[in-house]
Amino acid sequence: MEENVQCPNCGGFKVKNKGDGSANNKLGCLAVSLGGALFTWGLTLLLLPIAFFIKDDEPREDGSIEYLCELCGYKWFHIPGTPWPAINVRPELIREGAEKLRQEEEERRRRMND
Ligand SMILES: [Zn+2]
Repeated sequence: MEENVQCPNCGGFKVKNKGDGSANNKLGCLAVSLGGALFTWGLTLLLLPIAFFIKDDEPREDGSIEYLCELCGYKWFHIPGTPWPAINVRPELIREGAEKLRQEEEERRRRMND
């Protein structure tokens, strides 16, 4: 998920919202066990009880959202409603990061064409 937020470390706008730490583990385990049913009932019988014991990850207590900058790799937490961290604009970091992303994209495309 990408939002129009600015990285405090480089000033770039390629920032990923990694969410509030919550995850639906129980549903994932149920899905796996139902998928397993297509292959073997044994696997389902094994996983189904486990699903009931797995706890879903709770959101962080302070409600903070984790962000990751794809340009410079900077990771930080922000609590909604509090001021955004001070931003240092560093064009050289943005340029390096953009170049790195471009090369990765090119590499991906090359591999698809193989
Ligand atoms: Zn950054």
